[in-house]
Amino acid sequence: MQVIAATHNKNKVREFKEILSPLGYEVISAEEAGYFDEPDETGETFRDNSLIKARAIYAACHKAAIADDSGLVVDAIGGEPGVYSARYGGLEKNEDRVRLVLDKMKNVPDGERSARFVCAVAFVSADGAETLAQGCSEGYITREPEGENGFGYDPIFYSPELGKTFAQASAEEKNAISHRGRALRKLSEELRVKAIG
Ligand code: IMP
Repeated sequence: MQVIAATHNKNKVREFKEILSPLGYEVISAEEAGYFDEPDETGETFRDNSLIKARAIYAACHKAAIADDSGLVVDAIGGEPGVYSARYGGLEKNEDRVRLVLDKMKNVPDGERSARFVCAVAFVSADGAETLAQGCSEGYITREPEGENGFGYDPIFYSPELGKTFAQASAEEKNAISHRGRALRKLSEELRVKAIG
């Protein structure tokens, strides 16, 4: 079954493919489907924003659509950057957003640097039925960026499950425990249950 991934982020399309292809889904990007809009992410939760994006692409293309909304939630700074992760501080460059988190965390002691990546995934099937799932991955904010892989806040997110930052992990290692991997596996389980009826 073909599914349009409602994102222009190549890294996310790759992760959707890596996780959904073995389950029999052919993931195509929004560009490949001829969809170039960016709906406003006006929701207050990851869940609301994922639904906004999936519904928008379904309404435009009338095909199954999948969208995620994700971000980093840091306890010591009141849950920031949260749903504003992609545009934190109004900063354009990813390195600047990473630096802003590190600066805000400068005086936070080691025992209080807990954080989690959260991901909500919304799937709208070809007949318009909606399925939602969420996943999260717990960790700590490092003092400096470490590692070259991944994207976004990966270099400053230390995962105790991996024993390294997300940016030091391979794609397979990250997918196995990441918020997006977990949300997508939950989603595929939900879809399987629905298919059985
Ligand atoms: P979204 O595209 O609105 O879901 O924005 C998500 C933002 O959160 C991204 O631009 C990244 O800054 C951050 N983010 C989400 N998932 C990850 C991840 O797996 N690694 C690093 N940063 C992430």
